[in-house]
Amino acid sequence: MRLVLLGGPGAGKGTQATALAQHWHIVHISTGDLFRYHRDHGTELGVLANQYMTQGQLVPDELTEKMVEDRIGQSDVAVQGGFVLDGFPRTVPQGQALSAILASQHQHLDAVLYIFVPEEILEERLVGRRVCPKCQANYHVTFHSPRVADTCDTCGAALIQREDDRPLTVQTRLRVYQEQTSPLIAFYEKVGLLRTVDGNQPPERVTRALVAAAGKVADD
Ligand code: AMP
Repeated sequence: MRLVLLGGPGAGKGTQATALAQHWHIVHISTGDLFRYHRDHGTELGVLANQYMTQGQLVPDELTEKMVEDRIGQSDVAVQGGFVLDGFPRTVPQGQALSAILASQHQHLDAVLYIFVPEEILEERLVGRRVCPKCQANYHVTFHSPRVADTCDTCGAALIQREDDRPLTVQTRLRVYQEQTSPLIAFYEKVGLLRTVDGNQPPERVTRALVAAAGKVADD
């Protein structure tokens, strides 16, 4: 199973990709997580990428595509027989690059699952999001607050707000999404891969809808 999750920032791609990876026993590949890993380890790529990430801008296509090509080529993807991509592609050229990478390995995508959430709800989700820097658990100041204020329920670390979840940066991310990422919806619709799911419902229901949408493709 080779899947792409599409959706605005805050649509729940990370949560849903984790659930789908467990369901299908495939590898979860998050470009945001890969860039944060590089940034936290001070690699050359991480230092470069961080300049874009903190501004809410996209890292240049060439760097991103190379990182994804390397990741897809790792042995766990072949062993587990597939992946769910979370946060890639984010531009039409990245979508074209992904097709080329897969074609060079005689592979193709099975489905592109689009998690639709209205923009005002995305903004509310992002600005209120808090994350645990230690175990990566996610919280929300209104919808999912921790038992003890600003403290992770799981590991007790102090919660933080991601720098790119600050209000001004969120505005930029939503604009970048509209301008650069949303054209991928038409791009994948045209080739018959797009399946749209309502992302404005409880996470477990979104997961069920995604599994049904992807499962239908697998059965076709
Ligand atoms: P995310 O965690 O998916 O919201 O990604 C965090 C940041 O990483 C984004 O705001 C971008 O700066 C960068 N990033 C992640 N994926 C991509 C991508 N496919 N293309 C360019 N930049 C990306």
